[in-house]
Amino acid sequence: MIGAGHAGLAASSFLTARSIDHVVLERGEVANSWRRERWDSLRLLTPNWQSRLPGQTYDGPEPDSYMTMREVIEFISRYASESRAPVRTHTTVTSVVRRDDGYAVQTDGSEILCRCLVIASGACNVPSVPSVRDGVPSSIAQVTPFEYRNPSQLPDGGVLVVGASATGVQLAYEIHASGRPVTLCVGEHVRLPRTYRGRDVLWWMDRSGVWDQGHDAIDDLTRARRLPSPQLVGTPERMTLDLNALTDAGVGLVGRIAAVRDGRALFSGGLRNMFSLADLKMQRLLDTFDAWACGCDAARDVGPPERFPATRVPPSPRLQLDLRSGEIRSIVWATGFRPVYPWLHVPVVDEKGHLRHDGGVVDSPGMYALGLPVLRRRKSTFIHGIEDDARDVIDHLAGYLAGAHGERRSAG
Ligand SMILES: Cc1cc2nc3c(=O)[nH]c(=O)nc-3n(C[C@H](O)[C@H](O)[C@H](O)COP(=O)(O)OP(=O)(O)OC[C@H]3O[C@@H](n4cnc5c(N)ncnc54)[C@H](O)[C@@H]3O)c2cc1C
Repeated sequence: MIGAGHAGLAASSFLTARSIDHVVLERGEVANSWRRERWDSLRLLTPNWQSRLPGQTYDGPEPDSYMTMREVIEFISRYASESRAPVRTHTTVTSVVRRDDGYAVQTDGSEILCRCLVIASGACNVPSVPSVRDGVPSSIAQVTPFEYRNPSQLPDGGVLVVGASATGVQLAYEIHASGRPVTLCVGEHVRLPRTYRGRDVLWWMDRSGVWDQGHDAIDDLTRARRLPSPQLVGTPERMTLDLNALTDAGVGLVGRIAAVRDGRALFSGGLRNMFSLADLKMQRLLDTFDAWACGCDAARDVGPPERFPATRVPPSPRLQLDLRSGEIRSIVWATGFRPVYPWLHVPVVDEKGHLRHDGGVVDSPGMYALGLPVLRRRKSTFIHGIEDDARDVIDHLAGYLAGAHGERRSAG
């Protein structure tokens, strides 16, 4: 097993339950990404009641609140110790090659031979930054969410935040509140209210079955796997952080960054269409919730259906910004994250850098993956989504070890 995040640990607990001998290799510490790669104020956007791992649920006093990073690290670390996961920390995997009927895994300490390999090294190993960054004048400070900790790191003055998914809207709001004028570049995005009919919107995703939809039931799986994260934030007040809330706070909105030419950032037009599309998709999702709730016992005590105002389009959105004028002093690239596999010397990574797999069964005998977007279900990358995926994948792995799968077949 590579990686002691929640995915690797959940898989380890299923292996232990089946008495399958294994080891979890971790380059840092348990829950390393939450310790090293997140900003100071971040809280989960999933509510506490939804933080569950096989055999461990949230048992604190605030099921509807959202964990701070310290609490997430404690939650995952407690899981590792109570499940007695055989983790080797500070052990980096530097190479994996196919050997005989298994794999040779080279770490910075030793070589391990194994029949099966589970890759749980994370879906967010590096920030994805578009190549337009190369044209940004050197006078502008540039940070990614991996480097960003809090606004005091940024120079005084205007900030361009690129990307309006969960990370972008959260950082735009926080940086604006620090007194720095913020302009937010908005591309394709997923709008959601924090609460709907009196319940957390993720309660609806969970109970209505939307999040359980399987990868084999999704029409455009490639697209579903690339969907940006929803515009949500976890705050004690359960605030909705959509583009209207940001406009009200004073954040300026511009279109997607298309190029940086001669020191000028150029933005796409068409904000009106993009906003309408996101509003429409949100509306369709709320309709799905309403249809599910109709006559359903589990939704007996919810409030009446709600409708939300359309996203307001700025009167004349700017189409360019002179990055040499001093108006913008820094850029935050909140343009997503991606996994990387520089150590994997087995031909299972496609030309775009994605692992070739079918529901977590990788295209090489005895190799598996967990924790990737919509791996087996819409909820696959979330903490609460790992239990079902890990159970299915480890079932397949056990069958493989028992000789049940001569050829690669989808798990489950
Ligand atoms: C900003 C952000 C906010 C998120 N918020 C939420 C949220 O609110 N709720 C939610 O459910 N999910 C959230 N997620 C999604 C998801 O839960 C996290 O990304 C989670 O960390 C993924 O768990 P994982 O175990 O798959 O991967 P990781 O936690 O990334 O674990 C992978 C582990 O593998 C290790 N590793 C990598 N390469 C090697 C190597 N070569 N050798 C040895 N070890 C290696 C890493 O050090 C790491 O510890 C968020 C993600 C991000 C980026």
